[in-house]
Amino acid sequence: MISFNSIHELIDLAKENNTTIGNIVLTYEEESSMKPREELKAAMLENWQVMQESISRGLVNNEKSLSGLTGGDAVKLFHYNDKGYTGGTVMMAAANAVGVSEVNAVMGRIVACPTAGSCGIVPATIKAASEKNHNSEDEIIEALFTAAGIGLVIESNASIAGAYGGCQAECGSAAGMAAGALVQLAGGSPDQVGHGVALAIKNLLGLACDPVAGLVEVPCVKRNGFVAVHAMVAADMAMAGVESVIPIDEVIDAMDRIGRSLPRSVKETAEGGLATTQTAKKISKRIFGK
Ligand code: SF4
Repeated sequence: MISFNSIHELIDLAKENNTTIGNIVLTYEEESSMKPREELKAAMLENWQVMQESISRGLVNNEKSLSGLTGGDAVKLFHYNDKGYTGGTVMMAAANAVGVSEVNAVMGRIVACPTAGSCGIVPATIKAASEKNHNSEDEIIEALFTAAGIGLVIESNASIAGAYGGCQAECGSAAGMAAGALVQLAGGSPDQVGHGVALAIKNLLGLACDPVAGLVEVPCVKRNGFVAVHAMVAADMAMAGVESVIPIDEVIDAMDRIGRSLPRSVKETAEGGLATTQTAKKISKRIFGK
């Protein structure tokens, strides 16, 4: 029976079995849920279809959220794409991520990965990367299992909730999940997956959760776009052979300790940071009358 409590254990299992981390996570799911492998893969494929639908909707969606704070930016990015410094795959990942997040802001259907606030990062990057690499559907599903396994370890050893650990726990975790999946999609080794995850999370440690008016819109929607790009750079660094000096499981421990020591005001309470700027207060008054 396969079990793991750390990314290091996942990497070792993949190496011992001469397979990918995604495949190990799939076997773990098979054994723990007692469901056939094909059923689990079909369920993940369904998630991938929902993810793709949310990307497609986001890229044509000009609908503003009820608050009026977000909506229509993914369309702008999509049309600007080739003119930009980051034009191509990177800008596409940003556009996809902002699009999915905007769909979430209008109560559209998304896959929380790991949360609704950070729902754009994993699908956006996998979509952009798999189109560039021409990955098969099977490879994409396996990469999604890699992302799921990384999320599982983070949830067990730190947190994936902004209310508990700040935005490093939501968008930081999503960045790690995405970076690991992208390394696998690019054919990287299990060790490189670990470095990609570590590089991605390490550079988002301490990120505040300070949503304006308590809505998952500002800074969340655009942040999904930025963090998608961040995850791509982390994956590229790992694929180029760059290594994280601090091993991934120690990075996750650091994330947990930082999350515990962050003040309550930047843990989704809207009592600090951006949420207490003059403009944010005016927005809150306009929407909620206080
Ligand atoms: S700022 Fe807070 S609410 Fe927004 S995505 Fe980050 S953790 Fe979620």
